[in-house]
Amino acid sequence: MLINSPAMDRLVEAFRRLPGVGRRTAERYAMQLMAAPAAVAGELSEAVARARAAVTECSVCRNLTEQDPCVVCASDRRDRSVLCVVEHPPAALAIEKGGVYRGLYHVLHGVLNPLDNVGPDELKVGALLRRLEGGEVREVILATNTTAEGEATALYLSRQIAAMGVQVSRIAHGVPVGGGVEYADDATLTRALEGRRPV
Ligand SMILES: [Zn+2]
Repeated sequence: MLINSPAMDRLVEAFRRLPGVGRRTAERYAMQLMAAPAAVAGELSEAVARARAAVTECSVCRNLTEQDPCVVCASDRRDRSVLCVVEHPPAALAIEKGGVYRGLYHVLHGVLNPLDNVGPDELKVGALLRRLEGGEVREVILATNTTAEGEATALYLSRQIAAMGVQVSRIAHGVPVGGGVEYADDATLTRALEGRRPV
């Protein structure tokens, strides 16, 4: 750090826990907050604390929400026969913004990754499969990313779900290979959903 301050060191370390933030960026953020009026830092810390307290996981789909169940799960205008499985909440938000998909979601909060000790238990795959037991869901769309881990996760889930007699499809063209679903634009995502193919 540029100055001798344990408090600043702690702030820099806190920023560094965020994805994509290295030491130099973390130091820049910390210095910027010290240079700005105290109210700026106060607003940031209050916003973080409030969001953290208000936002929870939907007990049905595991998406992030301020009400449980979330607005999608609670809505009577959604098609409850279709379930779209995504890795992270931003992917569900990106599909929602496309405005075409009318089904429900299930958020895994990750992908299978043996190197990081992330297996089916860590992803709570059991919770997803239990949602299918009622028989209301007729199709599951696997919209995990097109990375190696996303594909492996889709393959694993497709076998588990197909064994339950539920139709499984995988989003197709449009999402770039190795790309994140949440980064694809609305039109691309809509095409990818419409172009899904059975697996
Ligand atoms: Zn929900």
